Amino acid sequence: MSAIDANRFREALTQERQRIQAALDNLHDENPGSITDETGEDAVYDNHLADTATVTYDRELDYTLEENAEHVLSDIDSALGRIDDGSYGNCTNCSREIPPERLEARPWATLCIECQRTREGR
Ligand SMILES: [Zn+2]
Repeated sequence: MSAIDANRFREALTQERQRIQAALDNLHDENPGSITDETGEDAVYDNHLADTATVTYDRELDYTLEENAEHVLSDIDSALGRIDDGSYGNCTNCSREIPPERLEARPWATLCIECQRTREGR
């Protein structure tokens, strides 16, 4: 493991985790229940068709955000685990060191830039 300051990254990861978790909680507060609930007994009976379409559209956007956020959350948890086992800062694919600049920008990064590009097909 390189001379990166694991404690500092642990701090950054923990803070980012809290921030994303708060955003997710907020998301859930704004959309309590599911689509099924809203079309159930609490459905707005005089709901205009256009309003329903808008709700669905917003919800799809939220789901996208939520999926991304939960993906990052799992990456953060994995990064915290790798700080604990001492493998943090190394690419999970090729084991080379991830450049510190990259870790500064994305402390939860699991791949070096080369492997990330390969994985994304660029
Ligand atoms: Zn790599």
